[in-house]
Parts: sequence; structure tokens; C-alpha cells
Amino acid sequence: MTTVVKGVKLRLYPNQKQTGQLWQLFGNDRFVWNQMLAMAQKRYENNPKSQFANEYDMNYLLKPLKQEYPFLKASDATSLLVVNHNLALAFKNLFQQRGGHPRFKSRHNAKQAYTGRSTCVVEAKRRLRLPKIGSIRTSKTSQLRDAKIKRYTISHDATGRYYLSLQVETEVHDLPKTHQSVGLDMGVANLAIGSNGVKHGTFNARWLEKQATLWQSKFSRRRHQATVTMRQWNHNHKLSKLVLNDYQNWQRARMVKARYQAKIANQRKDYLHKLTTDLVSQYDVIVIEDLKTKNLMHNHHLAKSIANASWYQFRTMLEYKCAWYGKQLVVVSAKNTSRICSACGHNDGAKPLAIREWTCSGCRTHHDRDINAAVNILNRGLKAIG
Ligand SMILES: [Zn+2]
Repeated sequence: MTTVVKGVKLRLYPNQKQTGQLWQLFGNDRFVWNQMLAMAQKRYENNPKSQFANEYDMNYLLKPLKQEYPFLKASDATSLLVVNHNLALAFKNLFQQRGGHPRFKSRHNAKQAYTGRSTCVVEAKRRLRLPKIGSIRTSKTSQLRDAKIKRYTISHDATGRYYLSLQVETEVHDLPKTHQSVGLDMGVANLAIGSNGVKHGTFNARWLEKQATLWQSKFSRRRHQATVTMRQWNHNHKLSKLVLNDYQNWQRARMVKARYQAKIANQRKDYLHKLTTDLVSQYDVIVIEDLKTKNLMHNHHLAKSIANASWYQFRTMLEYKCAWYGKQLVVVSAKNTSRICSACGHNDGAKPLAIREWTCSGCRTHHDRDINAAVNILNRGLKAIG
């Protein structure tokens, strides 16, 4: 039995009053961030040799800031400390040349969020109690059973929905041993092909992807239209200026597009979860290739980038699930796995990707290209662990 940390994301369904409150709190965090950043910049302008304000200094400034701007008292106080912590971190990264200069935040950003370190309490199957917000309707809280929640993030993104993200400690148990091993060859048409010949298809959501592309182009077109009419309006009306966000039609396209994209990402994630859970319960040793060394030069760019996203997620899931459930993941070099004959070890040379089957010129074994590669991967992995 091991204790592990899992990320849990729930939908939030705030009522009208809570929606107003949430936007106030998003705004408060943004306000503190922008104030602290402005102060740090002023300080630097006055004396370039001065250190940027550290977290402790910034926390000290919160008290006078709250007196000057009483609306900040509506916030979960810990969320303002998290803002300072993140800003201090951003400065630290800047000075260690690991990140760019921290930027001012705008209320027009598609994503709004705040993070607090206070406790949230599960009240019912679909209800939580959040600091300052009170009792709020959520999606199913069953994953949070007995968990103590000490850090939470509330966000609103381009889909127009509200979410609550939590890190939750839970206990996991080893899965029964099966004494089976498998090698996996990663591909584009099939996500993974097993050394035993089993093909695991690539997740595809063609209809959804088509919709997402369609709304992406509507979104671009409407933004362009909105920009043009906005400039005309602002040119003719000196007093009442419009901003891009005033254009409902464009906003709607942005939301629909984001919803399709989120739906595709969620379905892909569900698919990969199911697949990796199946693999981890079927095999004790899983061998995959190191994709950095895999040659995919001849693949279509789009297919490649989509496959890349899936592979990365697939590998990450296998990594932590093997660790959780007492199984072993071995990563081997992908070099020459499609050239070497898995029966006799003869290197039969490079073959165009179009050639799916071949016969070894050394031992005359007939191979399916992908299965042969998967067998080579398995053999390398077993050799590596002895
Ligand atoms: Zn051979």
C-alpha cells in the first residue's frame, strides 16, 4: 500500500450570487499581482541595484493594501499569499534566467483563476464548502472520500465553465502479478502495437475535430470582422470606445471552439486512461521505446504533432501507474528496431515506411514491420533488466 497524490478536477456550478463573488475574487488576486508587480518595477527603476521584493516583504505589504482597498477582505486571505508566492517565484526564475519577465494580468484573459491554501469540506455527493464562497454545487465528489483538501484552485476558462482543481492524497495497492511482459512499438495509425501482435488503435474523434476546426475558422473570421468594425466605431465615436470583448458573436465562437477542444482532450485522456490501466493490469513488465530516438521524419506534420501529444500522455500515465501498482516500465532506445530481424538479429537495412512486411535476408523469416519492432523492443527491455 502506498500513499500517492492524485489530481482531481471537478466542475463547479455557482449560483448567480456566487458567480459574482468568484469574479470579485479572480479580480482581487489579479489586483494584488498587478500592484505588487508595479511596486517591484518602481523600486527597480529608482534603484537598479536593489533586490526585487521578496515574498516576505510582499506579504508585509498586504496589510496596508487591504486597509486601502477593503474589497480585498472578501478574498480567502491565503489566496493573496499564494499570489505573492507565485510572483516571488517568477522573479526568482527571471534572475536565474529560467523565465521571462512577469507580466501584468488582464481581466480579458481567457483564463481566470485563484488558488488558496485553506480547507475545503465535502458536504454531500455533489456539494462542497469553499472558503468565503460557502456551500456550492459541484460534479460528483466521490473521488474526494476521506481526503483532506488543503490546496485548491478555482478557474474559469475559455469554455465559459467553472472548475475546481485539487491535489488529493489517496492510497493505492499493488495489482496481482501476471508474469507477462510486453514490448510496445509506437505509431501514428496505431498508437501502440504489442510484441504479441495486439494493435491498440489511435484515439480519433474525427467529427469533433472537424467541428473544432470549423469553429476555429469562424473564430478567426469573426475576430477579424470585430476588429475592423471596432476600429471604425472608435474612429467615429471619440467618447464611447469599444473593445474587442464587446463583440458577442466573436465571444460565442471563442467559447464553442474551446468547448470542442476541451471535449476532444477529455475523450483522449479517458481513452488513454483505460488503455494504460488495462496494460498495467495485464503485464508485469512493459517496455517502450524512447521516442526522442524514433525516426518520424516521413510523417505528415499534423499527424505527427497529434501523435506526439498522445504518446507523451501515454508514457506519463504508464510511468506513474507502474509505480503505483507495483509494475515495471522499461524505456529502451528505438535505434534500428525496425531494421533488425527479431529472429536472428541480422540488420536488414533501412526500409521505406510504406513497406509494412518484409522477409529477413539472413534467416528468411517473414515479418510484420511493427510487430517485429515491438519484439525487438521487448528483447532490449528484458536484456536491460537482466
Ligand atoms: Zn533473420
